[in-house]
Amino acid sequence: MSSSDMKIITVVGSGLIGRSWAMVFVSGGYSVKIYDNQPGQAAKAITEIRKQLEELGEAGMLRGELSAAQQLALLSSHDDLTRALEGAFFVQECVFEQLEVKQSVFQDIERHVGKDVILSSSTSCLVPSNVFSKVQNKSRCLVSHPVNPPYYVKLVELVPHPETAATVMDTTHSLMTKVDQVPVRLKREIDGFALNRVQAAIIAESWRLVQDGVISVKDIDLVMSEGLGMRYAFIGPMETMHLNAPEGLGDYMKRYGEGIQRVLTSFGPVPDFCGEGAKSIVDEMSELIPADKQHLSARMERRDQLLMGLAKLKK
Ligand code: NAD
Repeated sequence: MSSSDMKIITVVGSGLIGRSWAMVFVSGGYSVKIYDNQPGQAAKAITEIRKQLEELGEAGMLRGELSAAQQLALLSSHDDLTRALEGAFFVQECVFEQLEVKQSVFQDIERHVGKDVILSSSTSCLVPSNVFSKVQNKSRCLVSHPVNPPYYVKLVELVPHPETAATVMDTTHSLMTKVDQVPVRLKREIDGFALNRVQAAIIAESWRLVQDGVISVKDIDLVMSEGLGMRYAFIGPMETMHLNAPEGLGDYMKRYGEGIQRVLTSFGPVPDFCGEGAKSIVDEMSELIPADKQHLSARMERRDQLLMGLAKLKK
């Protein structure tokens, strides 16, 4: 496929993540055709995106070189899958996180596209060998897992199916780089990919520390937001250690490796997140931020504003 053929991307599913992907791809100058199987839903998504692009334009936070109007002109909505897929070189699937739904969506998509078209799933929790089990040509399939909201949090995990061609990983890596996301490659599929495995480890120990009465919900969140998170927004755990000893990572491990191993052996079992013991933690959190729509929406808006500022700082 020549680069002149690589201009159109189809986004299948126009919910939260589909809309965000569409905004990311048009910011890089790609034409994006949005499809949703709920009639009128894709058109509604464009109305919502218009509002967001205009607000971002006014706030000086619009991504890419094009104006909001130019980016909007690259978008189209479709209620018909065949029309939506016409001319696309890349398909980003963003439908419900249900295995059967995704499997059948990819079967439908494959019937309407040429064999070179890359089929990419946004799944957070399903491994590629399950998502693509009903696709004939699996070498063109991969997971491109975004982080919510992808417009401000740029990481994308590229996860191959055991049969994914190296060129498909490379083309997707280039595409993500071109639209100014930050792609990372997993060398093989694994449950939870990389991000959710690390996140699960953090959640588990935070939960245990609160459950065991060592620290409050409020304070464990501060451990991250005012402690570890301050560095992690810019450098990861590997570089953090490398910089925390005079002679780098090897030196760090000589000094602290044994201590880390000792602490690790004291970690408790996988916590019960839903049983009786969980109730007091949920109540403690809800006392800090009541779990009603109004309070949660206000905090989500605050989170997105802060992420926007951080994204600006990281530029
Ligand atoms: P959502 O519920 O907001 O949107 C899903 C959309 O898909 C809806 O508009 C729905 O009408 C449409 N849809 C459902 N079945 C369809 C079909 N057969 N054909 C076409 N459209 C269909 O969900 P979301 O939060 O946008 O999540 C989408 C995907 O992205 C999921 O796989 C999810 O795991 C993944 N993801 C979500 C997040 C997140 O934080 N929300 C983060 C990373 C990845």
